[in-house]
Amino acid sequence: MQKNTTMINIQNYLNGELVNSLSGNWLDNCNPATGEIYSQLPDSDQNDVEKAVIAVKSAQNEWANLSNEKRGDWLLKLAQMIEDNLDTFALAETNDNGKPLWLSKNVDIPRAVSNFRFFATAIQHFASESHTMTGVGFNYTLRQPIGIVGCISPWNLPLYLFTWKIAPALAAGNCVIAKPSEITPYTAFLLSQMCVEIGFPPGVLNILHGLGSKIGSAIVSHPSISAISFTGGTSTGAQIAQTAAPIFKKLSLELGGKNPTVIFADCEYDTMLETVIRSSFTNQGEICLCGSRILIEKSLYERFKKDFVEKISQLKVGDPLELESKQGAIVSKQHFDKVLGYIELAKQEGGNILCGGFRVQLKGRCENGWFIQPTVIEGLTQNCRTNQEEIFGPVVTLMPFETEDEALSLANHSPYGLASTIWTTNLQKAHHVASQIETGIVWVNCWLIRDLRTPFGGMKASGLGREGGWEALRFFTEPKNICIKY
Ligand code: NAD
Repeated sequence: MQKNTTMINIQNYLNGELVNSLSGNWLDNCNPATGEIYSQLPDSDQNDVEKAVIAVKSAQNEWANLSNEKRGDWLLKLAQMIEDNLDTFALAETNDNGKPLWLSKNVDIPRAVSNFRFFATAIQHFASESHTMTGVGFNYTLRQPIGIVGCISPWNLPLYLFTWKIAPALAAGNCVIAKPSEITPYTAFLLSQMCVEIGFPPGVLNILHGLGSKIGSAIVSHPSISAISFTGGTSTGAQIAQTAAPIFKKLSLELGGKNPTVIFADCEYDTMLETVIRSSFTNQGEICLCGSRILIEKSLYERFKKDFVEKISQLKVGDPLELESKQGAIVSKQHFDKVLGYIELAKQEGGNILCGGFRVQLKGRCENGWFIQPTVIEGLTQNCRTNQEEIFGPVVTLMPFETEDEALSLANHSPYGLASTIWTTNLQKAHHVASQIETGIVWVNCWLIRDLRTPFGGMKASGLGREGGWEALRFFTEPKNICIKY
């Protein structure tokens, strides 16, 4: 597609400069709340990756040899720039993704700032191991930068997840070739403008825009890129693993989920109800950590169903720029159609729609936007596709259980294993269920409390490896053991 001169033009950030793709081709970018194409991004390909690799090669040694403090200082400068321009970043995120502006302002952008600050300082405390062999000698392990790493991120928490990868990669002394989602490229572009403004060392961070099938797979298959940190769908993760495994690329894969929310009758009811509304529908349910299968102890089922449905029916779906809107737009027309398709499937599978289940047609500015009423469904079996496949939208199902064992069996009956939430005031039960549940992240009587030091990621089809804290710094470094004889 040719360049449209009336639009915002997003550019690649390559070797310290903002440039168009070498092909000169462009992709359209939509505001999901209005359905309007408002910007264009470069349709980059393997030639742009090649150019970025050349840029990195001349920057690599200097960056790796900077002290941890100096690298940390650069990241702190970026954090400060984002914080100083928080309103601009938040509006850009909302226009790109459709999420409510209050959410971008209070969660997405502040978390991007925290990601840079956290890893800028974490690297000062990162230490490696030493193993003594009494009377023989000792070993010490160096943790050296890997070299060039590829970071590929999705559309649901655009700047939040983009910086969650590039911050530890850079802090550990690597150079980065990064690709944000083509559906939400705008805040990564704003970040690259900040890099230019502060004179971030050229070639150290390169941000290339475009399609996953083109620029994404060119990053994954490039022989000079030694590791890939990917967050996105499970089938994309499988494709990436197929390419990366035979060339022995280090891989971190953060993939899809179908998270259970397990509610026991002895829970603290009011806190549970208020939190489960959030854990089900925050960001239109487009958070990999949202609980989409709500399992409720039978004796509490009818009470919970009545209260939950009443509250969900009142959630205001509206213009993301308005403070009262609790739910914004679905990120793209394609995803909107997919979510509505799953609601139809749920009906065909015998599901009873308790609330929602339809498109919301707003008036005025957002009349062409892609909005869906939060949807609650009951009456489905655990085996049906609605309960087995990731929908990644404002759709949850309710299922009753009678015993702790049955709750665990339902919770674990999934190909995925990302996150779970357990609601009970019985300590023993909480510990037992938490230890048996097959997810990488478990919240007890809370949801989405995040300590950036903790291991983050899933098991089964939800991924490979963990992010966060030392896990991320270990992933982005190569351990080298040195053995010295006394
Ligand atoms: P996606 O897999 O379609 O795309 C993710 C990124 O990968 C995008 O930048 C895309 O351009 C790129 N990509 C696509 N095909 C590629 C290929 N062949 N090679 C290299 N890169 C490629 O996912 P999405 O639709 O953007 O995001 C939604 C998914 O992300 C959901 O499944 C959600 O659960 C998952 N997610 C997981 C986590 C987690 O931490 N586990 C967090 C957020 C989102």
